[in-house]
Formats: sequence, C-alpha cells, structure tokens
Amino acid sequence: MKALSETRSALPRSGIREIMDYSANMPDVIHLEVGEPNVNTPLHIREAAFSAMNDGFTHYTPNAGLLSLREAISGHLERQYALRVKADQIVVTAGAVNALAATVLSLVESGEEVLIPDPGWPNYEQIILSQESIPKRYKLSPDAGFVPDMADLEHAVTPNTKAIIINSPGNPTGGVLREENIKELLAFASRHDLYVISDEVYDGIVFEEKHISPLSYDTEGRVISVFGFSKNYAMTGWRVGYAVAPQRIAAIISKVLEPLISCASSVSQKAAETAISSPQDFVREMCGVYKARRDHSYKLLEEAGIKAFKPKGAFYMMIDFSDVETNGENPALALLKESGVAVAPGATFGSTAKQMIRISLATEDSKLFEGVRRICDFARKHKRK
Ligand code: PLP
Repeated sequence: MKALSETRSALPRSGIREIMDYSANMPDVIHLEVGEPNVNTPLHIREAAFSAMNDGFTHYTPNAGLLSLREAISGHLERQYALRVKADQIVVTAGAVNALAATVLSLVESGEEVLIPDPGWPNYEQIILSQESIPKRYKLSPDAGFVPDMADLEHAVTPNTKAIIINSPGNPTGGVLREENIKELLAFASRHDLYVISDEVYDGIVFEEKHISPLSYDTEGRVISVFGFSKNYAMTGWRVGYAVAPQRIAAIISKVLEPLISCASSVSQKAAETAISSPQDFVREMCGVYKARRDHSYKLLEEAGIKAFKPKGAFYMMIDFSDVETNGENPALALLKESGVAVAPGATFGSTAKQMIRISLATEDSKLFEGVRRICDFARKHKRK
C-alpha cells in the first residue's frame, strides 16, 4: 500500500493528551491538566438549543453562519469593545480552533513562516505544520508578565514570514496584553508586512487588566481576531467560535470552511446566539470564581515557598519547577506517578516553559486545592539541594 501522508503522520502530539492517557486508569488522580470549565452550559442556553431544534433549525446554514448569529455577534462586539463590525466580516466556525486553522489556510502558503508564542497553545504549531507551513517561536518573558519580547520577535522574523499569532489572555501563561503591547505589536506587523491572527478566546476571563482587542487599533486591515464560546459560556462541546476579519479575508475564510465543515452546527449556532445576546451574568460570575481560585492557589504555593506566575486572565497558572529535581524524568509525569496529580507539562508549550507545569483553575475548589497541596508537598520533597 502507498504510504500515508508523512507530514500529517509526523505531527507532534500535545503533551497534555499524553498525561491524560497515562492517568486514565490510575486511581485517585486529581485532574488539573484539562482546560475546560467544570460546570455545565447555563440552562437558558441549553433551552435555546432545544427550542431551535423544535423550530426547525436542523438544516445546513450558510458557510459563514446564520445571519441572525452574525448580527448578534456584531451587537456584542459593539457593546463590549465599541467595535463597528459588519456581519460580512464575521465567519462562524466549529470552535475557535477551526477559525484559527481556516484563517491560517486562508493567509499562508506552504513553506511560509508564521510566528507563534513560546510558551503557547500547542495547537498553533499543529495547525501550521499540518499545512506544511513553518512555525517560528518568539519568546514571552515570564518575569515581565509573559508579554512578547520585542527583541526576540525582531530576531525571529524573516522576509518569508507571513503572519504572527498572538494570544491574550494567554494559554498557558495567563498573560494579558496592555494597550502599549498591542500598539507595539501592530507597529511590528506593519513594519514587516505581517497579518496578525489574534486569539481572544479567553476575552471574558480577565482579572486585573481589561481585555483590549487589537481590532480596536487596526487601521491597515491586517488583524483577524478569533473568539469562542467554549471558555466564556462553558460550551466546549457545542463547537462554536468565530473569526472577525476585513471583508476580503472573511470571504476566503468562509470559502475555506466549505471543504472542511461546510458550516457550524445549526443548533449550536442558535444556542450561541442566545449566549451572546442575553445578559452576561454567567461570564462575570465564572470570572469571579476563577479569580478566587487563583488567589487561594497562589497563596498556598507562596506559603510553601514555590514560585508561581500569577495569571491576569484565562484560567491557568504556571508553576516554576526549575528547583525540583526529577532525575531527568518529565516533571509532570514524575508528579503524576508519585502524587497522583495530572498537570500539563510545560515543555508541550515550548522551550521557555520546559521547567514549568500548568494547572487549570477551571476545576472545582476541593479538587484544585487538594491538587495544589500535593504539588507543594512534591516540590518540597524533591527540592534541588
Ligand atoms: N485558543 C486557545 C488559546 C485555547 O486554549 C483553546 C482551547 O483550549 C482554543 C483556542 C480553542 O477553543 P475552541 O473550543 O473554541 O475550539
């Protein structure tokens, strides 16, 4: 038989999945590795889906999504960020990951480079490699709140670079870009003629700063912002997200969806329409819950003398394990085997985070705090002499 696609067969797996598989049959494991809310989708959203099914929303929709949803998104972006976005600039997708992949497909040829954050969400690399383009990492500085190191960016960019992916609030870092960071990044993109793909799926989960979309400062039509429903509304299983782009780019993203998914699920789109147009109390409440969990987890780690990077947004926290001796074994695996806590290994996010682990704050309080206590005990026991 002929060989399978070499490029696709060689795609790196996310280290998070490896930990999930390893821990699947282990008893008494506390799971802090997965990035999804521990609560179900709010009732009013579920009921909207039920009504939509009974009202006949059981068919294909346009590639770009139902007009009613795109108009609701436009209204939401205006209320939230004072953005004026027309419905034909919005493309609804099967989750934000689909919007990111379709955007990269629409902008980047194979062999061209895309800048991605280090540490950054592992799927960026997978998306770029899967279409035979080239990911190039740029460093986020841990001690400066995980904002991009502009000198490193200048070093990483080449004439073959087509786009840069930025992510704020960031996974895994919890870093939130400020207005000056965004202006600097847009000036950099303009200088090197790059598209800016801005992943904003955690825009409703910001603790100290406020979320600023680069769309607000895009005077040249080079920003494509990607938003989701999974994290803000606890809708991971519904698979809805969207891209906001200049009309000429939105048209290509919409066309690219045709061979991939044709369109997002009609029922999920109606649920998303209710999520985005009804009062946003759930988003605000959950943001408060994540903040309280962050504060208590951070306090437990601080009291144990373990360095953690206090996130300003999203629902993860990075913990510094550079002082922890695991005799060459992956620290996340060593922790899982000895203490029964599953966490995301830092190395899966890039080389900057090799000596770190990531915990998810989207875990119910009792499990999260017990997991953090076990991490503290493990780190103290194996502290490098
Ligand atoms: N972007 C980041 C940074 C994420 O962490 C995730 C999910 O973990 C996504 C995008 C994808 O979200 P969705 O479920 O909408 O595809």
